Amino acid sequence: MAKILLIVIAVAAAFWLLRNHRRRADRDAQSPAAPPAEDMVGCAQCGVHMPRKEALESGQRYFCSGEHEREFRGKH
Ligand SMILES: [Zn+2]
Repeated sequence: MAKILLIVIAVAAAFWLLRNHRRRADRDAQSPAAPPAEDMVGCAQCGVHMPRKEALESGQRYFCSGEHEREFRGKH
C-alpha cells in the first residue's frame, strides 16, 4: 500500500513540475527576446554616439551639446 502511495505522489509531483515548466515557457514566449535597440546618433562635431532622445537635434544634424552645435556652426 505504501508503494502505491509513493507512486501516486511521484506522478503528482511529475505533473506539477511539468505544468510549472510549461507555464514558465509560455511566459518566456510572451516576453520579447530583447528590448528594442536604442536609436543611436553621432554628434556632428565630435562624433560621440548617444541615444537620439538625448541628442540635441539641429536641422538634419545631431549634437552632444549646445557647445558643439555652436562650434560646428562656427566652422561651417
Ligand atoms: Zn560633440
